[in-house]
Order: sequence, then structure tokens, then C-alpha cells
Amino acid sequence: MLQSKLPDIGTTIFTVMSQLSTEMKAINLGQGFPDFPMSEELTALVAKAMQDGFNQYAHMAGLPALLEAIAQKVLYLYNNTVDPYAQITVTPGGTYAIYTALTTILQPGDEVIVFEPAYDSYVPNVEVNGAKAVLIPLQYPGYSIPWPAVKEKINAKTKAIIINSPHNPTGSIISRADIEELRNITSNTGIYIISDEVYEHLIFDGLRHESMLRYPDLMERSFVCASFGKTYHCTGWKIGYCITSAPLMKEFRKVHQFNCFSCDTPKQVALAQYLGNKDAYLGLGSFLQKKRDYFQQLMQATPFTPLPSYGSYFQCYNYAAISNEADKNFAIRITKEYGVACIPVSAFYKNAKDDKVVRFCFAKKESTLQQAVERLSKISVV
Ligand code: GLN
Repeated sequence: MLQSKLPDIGTTIFTVMSQLSTEMKAINLGQGFPDFPMSEELTALVAKAMQDGFNQYAHMAGLPALLEAIAQKVLYLYNNTVDPYAQITVTPGGTYAIYTALTTILQPGDEVIVFEPAYDSYVPNVEVNGAKAVLIPLQYPGYSIPWPAVKEKINAKTKAIIINSPHNPTGSIISRADIEELRNITSNTGIYIISDEVYEHLIFDGLRHESMLRYPDLMERSFVCASFGKTYHCTGWKIGYCITSAPLMKEFRKVHQFNCFSCDTPKQVALAQYLGNKDAYLGLGSFLQKKRDYFQQLMQATPFTPLPSYGSYFQCYNYAAISNEADKNFAIRITKEYGVACIPVSAFYKNAKDDKVVRFCFAKKESTLQQAVERLSKISVV
């Protein structure tokens, strides 16, 4: 009998809810993906790259032109000069970048600080490497980081801390004050920072994305993980990248090269060209903010209570005014009975903490959101 490496892990909630949504022919506001079309210019560039013969392996670290384009963007956005050849690796998505960064640094017995609710891959990624996730709850309902609790948990075994801003599932973001706390806690230690920044452009209300890339001292020990899927509305492309210091990237690539080796060449050719179009990413925050505002406004017709969302694709709602059911049962029931899928936030806690909160993805056409909320407004209070 095989000894499971992840004995307590079932199927990811995203697959569970998307499958149920498909079976029920529901409107899927669960798994985070847009239902509006991506840029035709970008898809045309991929088609052209294939027709032009860019169909063989790219460089293990990424297509040089794409690495250079990413470095230029980092300079433009965060005023940081990174060496494209030594500090950036193109990966098959953000989740893979996070997994690879953790696998690069972790030894059995190490501890990693993980804030909950946590994107559901983090804890298994830590545990599969024989390390321990030290779980710290974010402060409900604003989901801010409780720094005194972090200080208490840090010890000689602490190898890394995972930061995610804008945050999935809650849409909270870190501030400049959080950066200062992070700096105070980690400077002169061997603690690495895994920074999941896949929603870097999806930030609202004029707020600034506090990327680790803005802070050279933090970048020496940070792995910044990014996603083209989120930026260009093509989550199914599974392409992203990781940026870290040159010595850390050397180790990251040792793991990467014997796992995925290299990423899809035609998409890299296309992205290298498309990245020059600054408007395509600069306008994203206001584009998604309109959707958040529209969704929030529609949801006022329902008994759901909104929690703040400052970024990402997501808006959480408390449903305690509707029902006392466990959030997973509630999510399944409204998918079946009302035809709208969402994600129960307990799925992002190792002990399934249930604050009666569900996550909705508002990265959808207005007509989709309108139809979904029309259904949700029929929910009867039980
Ligand atoms: N990041 C997506 C979400 O939060 C899900 C990705 C996945 O299904 N693995 O919904």
C-alpha cells in the first residue's frame, strides 16, 4: 500500500465546485476565471508565432525576449533593475512558481509561516516538502496580518513566510506599514519571503500594490511569483514567472529544469511583444474595480453582508443572516438550488474554520453578474 505524501488532502475546492457547477448548469462564480474574451491581438500573436515556426523548446529559464520584457516592466513599475537572465524564470503558472520556490528552500523539519485563509496550494506545498506550515489567522473581517502573533511564532526553524497581496480569497492587500513590519521581522535573519503577487494589477480604489520588487533589501530573500493568466484574462494558458536574487534563482532553476524544463514557446513569443503595451496592464485595476462595484451594488438586493475587497478577482460575503449551515454545505446547496456556484472560505483553513463566509468571483461579464445576483436575490432566509 502506497504511503501517501499528502494523507489529509482531498480534491481542491476549485475542481469540486466547478464540477458541481457544470453538472448543475449553474453560473460559476466559484473558481476564479474571467468569462469575457481576452485580447484578440494577443491570441493573434500566438497564432502568428506558431505559423512563423516558433514551436520548439524555449530556453529552460524562459525565452530571452520575454525575460527582457519582464525586466523592463519591473523597472518601469517598481523602479528595480533585475537581471533578466539571472533573476527571472518563466513558469507554467503562478502556483508552480510558488511550489518551486518552496521546494528550492525547504528542508524536512523547517517551518513556514502561512496566513489563513490561505490559497489552498500553500499548505500542501509546504508539507509535501517535509516541512511544517505554522498557521496564523488573519484578523476577521478585514483580514489584516496580526504582526505580534507573527513575532511570537518566529523561531530558529522558521525558513519562510508566505505573503499574498492582493489576497486570495479575501481581496485584502498589504500596506506600507506591513512592509515595515515584514522588514523588521525578517532583516538579519535567514527567513525567505514567498510573495504571491499574481493579482498585482488587480488593485482598486487608487491603492498602490506593495510589491516586494519595490524593496531591494527584501528582494534579496524574496521569491516574487506572478501570473500572465491573471493579467491577460487567460487563466487556462498556465504561464507566469518567478523573480528572485541571482543566487536563489540559480537554485530555483535546478528544481525547475527537471520538472517542467521549459514553457510553451509560442505564448512566450507573443507575450514578449504584448508586454510592451503598458495600457493593457495599467487599465486593469479600474476595469475590474467597475465589476466589483457593479457586483456589490447588485448584491445589495440580497441578504448577504459584504466584506471589504481592495483587489483580486474576489469579493467575500458573510451569509449568517441567511443560514446557519456550514459554509461548504451552504455553497453546495445554493449551487444546486439557486444555480450559482461560489467557494466556501473554510476551504482555505487547515481546520476548516467557518465564519459563514463565501467567496464570489466578479471577473465576469455584467450580464453574468446580473443573472447570478437575480438568482441569489431569491434565496430564502432559513
Ligand atoms: N486561482 C484560482 C482561484 O482562486 C483557482 C486556480 C485553480 O483552480 N487551481 O479560484
